[in-house]
Amino acid sequence: HQNLKILGRKCKIPIIKNCRIRSALATSSAACNHRSPPIKTSSLTALSPYLQSEWRPILSGWLCSAVSVYSLSKFVPLAGQLSSSIAVSNLESVRKGALVLGVLLSIRIVANYLQQAFLWDAALNCAYKIRVYVFDRVLQRDLGFFESGNGISPGDVAYRITAEAEDVADTVQSLLNIIVPSALQLSAMVAQMLIVSPQLSLISALVIPAMALTVGCLGEKLRAISKEANLSTASLAAYLNEVFPSILFVKANNAESNECIRFKSLASADLSARLKKKQMKVLIPQIVQIMFFGVLLILGATSIVVSKGSLNCSVLVSFMTSLVLLIDPIQDVGKAYNELKQGEPAIERLFNLTLFKSQVIEKPDAVNLASVMGEVIVCGLSFSYGDGMAPVLNNLDLHIKAGETIALVGPSGGGKTTLVKLLLRLYEPLSGSILIDGCDIQNIQLQNLRRHVGLVSQDSVLFSGTIAENIGYRDLLSGVDMDRVRFAAETANADEFIKCLPNQYEAPVGPRGSNFSGGQRQRLAIARALYQNPSILILDEATSALDSRSELLVRQALQRLMQNRTVLVIAHRQETVLMAERIFLINDGKLQQLSHSALLDGQLGSLAAGLVV
Ligand code: ADP
Ligand code: MG
Repeated sequence: HQNLKILGRKCKIPIIKNCRIRSALATSSAACNHRSPPIKTSSLTALSPYLQSEWRPILSGWLCSAVSVYSLSKFVPLAGQLSSSIAVSNLESVRKGALVLGVLLSIRIVANYLQQAFLWDAALNCAYKIRVYVFDRVLQRDLGFFESGNGISPGDVAYRITAEAEDVADTVQSLLNIIVPSALQLSAMVAQMLIVSPQLSLISALVIPAMALTVGCLGEKLRAISKEANLSTASLAAYLNEVFPSILFVKANNAESNECIRFKSLASADLSARLKKKQMKVLIPQIVQIMFFGVLLILGATSIVVSKGSLNCSVLVSFMTSLVLLIDPIQDVGKAYNELKQGEPAIERLFNLTLFKSQVIEKPDAVNLASVMGEVIVCGLSFSYGDGMAPVLNNLDLHIKAGETIALVGPSGGGKTTLVKLLLRLYEPLSGSILIDGCDIQNIQLQNLRRHVGLVSQDSVLFSGTIAENIGYRDLLSGVDMDRVRFAAETANADEFIKCLPNQYEAPVGPRGSNFSGGQRQRLAIARALYQNPSILILDEATSALDSRSELLVRQALQRLMQNRTVLVIAHRQETVLMAERIFLINDGKLQQLSHSALLDGQLGSLAAGLVV
């Protein structure tokens, strides 16, 4: 459990820290292709820890519901008495009865309001906690889950955590706010009916089994249809998530109408799935209304009993009142059952995101290195992205001395970025090891390792927020140190354009840094690495997409960034490569050292394809 303050209230969020407990549920094949197996537990079992954590508002809501039902059950005999009093024109008794009825009604209104308020509070808090838990677990998943083409798309994940978590809130509220209070009202009214007239009650009971059976069957159908509808909307969300970040590319290729056709086909699939779902949703409450046939049966039966003169007016009115009050909760239970069935796929899909087996696991006795000199030894490293896939790195050896700058060149797809991912332990190697200052990275705490190893990549990732927040990203929670931010920006040649912005360091950064040029984004990324001040720095094609002026500024920034640390520079530009003390060519998963002169003489031919002079 983690204590969090939500909406001014202290809440305990059940967070399962040790993924190995839950990962026992995941099969080993799931670990390979990063897909989760379908959730095995029932939806209610999955929800139960969250419901338990909200026991206070749930209990308060149900107490209010009991008060409301109690006041309603008092209506039944009172209605009978009132009708008798009216029949004998006993005005005093009518007045008294009306007063009590007014008080009961007021109690019911207040109790109903409080019941709804408490139970919605519980339902929304449950959904909030589930959302936070699922997001936390998704962030912990291996990089492979996000990168593998056959996994779940980011748009689908976003849809589950937003829209489907909302469905979960609706389901929980139906469960708490409708099923339980309606069941209470239902039992109270049935009890009243039995007290008033057992024979008439038996006749009404005849229709209930048939109704329950039909509703049960339809509920299962609704569950399947809801799952289909959720999947189609998730595909729509995944598509949108892809198309808007690529809008420049879409426009440049005149592909707006093509994309519109693709969207239309996905949206029409979604439309038919949703239509099916809605049709089933409206059908179930209609089936529940079979109950009204029961009323007809009872009316027929009462006419026989009344004609025989064995039923007085007061009993008849009381019985009919309880019968009428029974119809509402039965309909409500039908509706809530609907909600529950359509919410089940959402609950399954959300929790399925949390069931996985990590390949990158931190050892319990992993060490925390306070400081690092920066010696890196790569020893017999082999790696492939999956079973049956060609090896990307093949028994690779490399020794980088502390403080040394090494350049890595090679054809695109040669495995340069893969080596970087392994250095950051974002994937596990098939065999071999990587040592930092003599310590295998498998024995270093993951956060500690990624603090000492800094990365500036080709796509310098910026987030929505301010410039200062982007540079001091590492300290976002603990508080960004503005002096360090300014120093980093100055060293990275970024302060010249930051100072021209209206709010300077507080200027907003658009989604993915869209309001800055490539060179500016790159300098901000370098400033971020300077802020982090890692002992080992990796530059993965950090200057590949720049114009010459930007490149000069960025190269100056990089030179300052590279001082006093171990640097692995992956580059396309000859000038950048020549800044290194040693140069290696990576090809077919193997390394080969190159001399500076070989590079300058252009002796490498196609091997160093992509190298720009
Ligand atoms: P480089 O950085 O040298 O251009 P990469 O290390 O990115 O090359 O890629 C090496 C090879 O691994 C390429 O053939 C690429 O297609 C493949 N690859 C890269 N990432 C993945 C991934 N997440 N899943 C499967 N294959 C991948
Ligand atoms: Mg690469």
